[in-house]
Amino acid sequence: MDLGIYIQVPFCQAKCTYCNFHTGVFSPSLYAPYVSAVCDEILNHRALYRQAGVDPPPAEWVVDTVYLGGGTPSLLAPEDLARLLDAVRTQFPCAWREATLEADPETVTPQKAAAWRAAGINRISLGVQSLEDRELRAAGRQHRRADVFAAFGRLRDAGFENLSFDLIAGLPHQTVASWETSLAGLIELRPEHVSIYMLEIDEHSRLGAAVLAGSRKYSADRVPDEDTIAEFYRRACQQLEAAGYEHYEISNWALLELDGAPVERAGPSRFRSQHNQKYWRRQPYLGFGAGAHSFNGRQRWANGHDPAHYVAALARGQLPVEQLEEIGRQQALEEAIFLGLRQREGIDLAALEAEYNVSFAEPVSRLSSAEWVTFVQGRLRLTPAALTTANAVLVELLEGLQPVRHTQVAG
Ligand code: SF4
Repeated sequence: MDLGIYIQVPFCQAKCTYCNFHTGVFSPSLYAPYVSAVCDEILNHRALYRQAGVDPPPAEWVVDTVYLGGGTPSLLAPEDLARLLDAVRTQFPCAWREATLEADPETVTPQKAAAWRAAGINRISLGVQSLEDRELRAAGRQHRRADVFAAFGRLRDAGFENLSFDLIAGLPHQTVASWETSLAGLIELRPEHVSIYMLEIDEHSRLGAAVLAGSRKYSADRVPDEDTIAEFYRRACQQLEAAGYEHYEISNWALLELDGAPVERAGPSRFRSQHNQKYWRRQPYLGFGAGAHSFNGRQRWANGHDPAHYVAALARGQLPVEQLEEIGRQQALEEAIFLGLRQREGIDLAALEAEYNVSFAEPVSRLSSAEWVTFVQGRLRLTPAALTTANAVLVELLEGLQPVRHTQVAG
């Protein structure tokens, strides 16, 4: 069995206004002790898991993906990143085909890029978010458009052949014209992978709270409305497809190597995120670090998200596990629908119905009449029109699900 490893680095240079993650600005003097605590967790995970009621994965599972996310893991000294990867190599059989580092553009130097390669990282996910300086400034980002182009060149020079860009649709001051500028700049650089997230408005970010309060703080009054954000997303879908990207998950695109062949004939892109596909396919992954989530196939759990508490707990020989849950059949089915339908290849509904002894006939018939879902080669998919309202469609699908009653036929 293959295993994914996620390592959480919760440190940022500044807090972006729209950010609702458990990350923050901490003194750099905490970075090295934090890395030591994560190495401890990795090296002693079997004993720590047992103590916390978690089943360790079988020792023969092979690590095939690693993902260093955050936060801004590119803030760490390259030696600290190498220490983390060495701890993984020491503790698990490893044959990773993908090792991703999330990086902010302004943190990429030629020296760091070379050191990342030497440490075994082969993919960089750049937090671009926008290529318009006005939007970047309003969002509290530390980089500007020119930094993205510089970082891209440095990463290519260092030999990275698998780069991903994140964009956010819905930043304050974004207009159709400025969104087109960001998309055009991205397509000009042609990274191998693109993620586009629609701005989330909730009380957990400063911008979200300002929007909900009707305030103008953080340019909250310049956040585009929902219809405009949906229009940004549709334009991205069209333009990325025209530029040769495969739309393989609601928020993710991977570059196809077409060599003149039509898009329809291309197989799956080799630039899909191998690590993130594990989340959507319910495959096992272990998360290390403050706030990291894990799934071993039967249990899900998360570490407490406060980095200082995390370091202190590890120093006492304890893992601060929170939210440990055993995944029952109903939850496994709901996850399979919710996560599976995020992927554009959809789900094998007949196989799920047989495995879980349920029928989706009624909601599927209703949702397909409304053109929210469709069958393609026997697999149920969301239609393009459903992609911007996917959660509502998925809830409706699950609410209509019926248990199947087997009747005994007298022979
Ligand atoms: S860099 Fe990322 S994690 Fe850090 S504050 Fe900004 S959005 Fe949040």
